[in-house]
Amino acid sequence: MASLVVESDWILPVESPAIRGGFLVVQSGRIEYFGSELPVRYRSWPRVRLEDGVILPGLINSHCHLEFSDIESPLLAVESSDNESTTGGASMVRWLGKVMARRKALVDTGQDIAQIKKEATLRGVREAWSSATRLVVDNVTAPWSEDWLEQASSGFFADRRSEFIDALVCGPPILIRPCVELVDVNEARGKQTWNYALELMSRIDERRSQGVCQAPLGLAPHAPYTASKRLVRGAIERTSHPGGLLSMHLAESLEELQWIEDREGPMKDWIEPWIDTEHAMEIGTVDEHLRLLSGSHRALIAHGNYLSAHQIKWLESYRDWMAVVYCPRTHEHFRHAMHPANRFAASKIPLFLGTDSRASNPDLSVFEEWKTACRLFPELGPEYWMAACTLRPSEFFGLESSVGTLRVGSRSVLTWVPLGPASVVTQEALWDAILSAERAIPLEMVYS
Ligand SMILES: [Zn+2]
Repeated sequence: MASLVVESDWILPVESPAIRGGFLVVQSGRIEYFGSELPVRYRSWPRVRLEDGVILPGLINSHCHLEFSDIESPLLAVESSDNESTTGGASMVRWLGKVMARRKALVDTGQDIAQIKKEATLRGVREAWSSATRLVVDNVTAPWSEDWLEQASSGFFADRRSEFIDALVCGPPILIRPCVELVDVNEARGKQTWNYALELMSRIDERRSQGVCQAPLGLAPHAPYTASKRLVRGAIERTSHPGGLLSMHLAESLEELQWIEDREGPMKDWIEPWIDTEHAMEIGTVDEHLRLLSGSHRALIAHGNYLSAHQIKWLESYRDWMAVVYCPRTHEHFRHAMHPANRFAASKIPLFLGTDSRASNPDLSVFEEWKTACRLFPELGPEYWMAACTLRPSEFFGLESSVGTLRVGSRSVLTWVPLGPASVVTQEALWDAILSAERAIPLEMVYS
């Protein structure tokens, strides 16, 4: 069995105080011990000393679309052309139009869409892992394959395997939790996405959970303008079992609210040609969707940028199984009104961090999202935001022994943040040093 003692300038478990000059003992990918003293029984074990950095739990990205990971820079989000629109920021509709035009262009040139999506996904998984992400909740659409995820991670270490890596990582170095996207703007799209989701769910059962792909698969009714109440009800029924997960974009833009609440605004012209009568009769308001989602086993609300104070207050009663995912840099990309993060925090509603996709974000680094959230909401503090991308989502998903924690018995898929040679002596200075660090990497990659 591969065992190792890692001596580090700093160990920061997040849920307990930082340890200066600490020891982390791992064996075959599990944490045996950590603390400021090294117990006698480990003193004869192989030992390495890491300097000028800090060990943190692995990072969790609670909202992503890996299929867009081949987009080099975010698609420009321009202002709405509709002068009567009340949107403060950029137009979601015009941006969505660009995402769709990009896909249409690929189809029109006769390229193999499955191959393009596979390569994008492989690139995304690799990018996520190399910035120390250990779990990604990923919205997936057809065509897609769980084999892509396994392939992506098989090349991580290539010929770099060492005793150091073997002791730290046993099993998959990153986990992906797919949520199959559902859209029912019309009957044909509804059938297509629903049948595809059922097919994937029956193909990938819990037995597959040994690998990168985490079963059971979740479902992702896309958004209130593309997924009807009927579809959301069906998705909730299908994921009501233990381990079931539902993820939905909700209250993301003012354009969305104008459409679903009043059938007005820029979204009207864009979506109306697509929808059929059945869909039109089942469009839900934010309140209606919140009520539906409250009946789920676990629900992630992607963004929640425009949830009202009243809606947030209402969510308090459901905070054990409903969480909100804030994507700070995507939020900035669209120049939305200030995110109600403080209200969620005050109401103790779980608030996690996500990157969303490279169509609205320059990269897939959760560490950069953390830094952005700390900059925009300094009053909540770096510890709160670090828990939002480690411990809190880990507990929400019931994965405390796998990812996002630094605990005895947990898997040792951890983060290394190089801090440079300047010595950090206090906990407070430590957070400042982490905030000015350039990057976070998987701990097992510290020597490469
Ligand atoms: Zn999204």
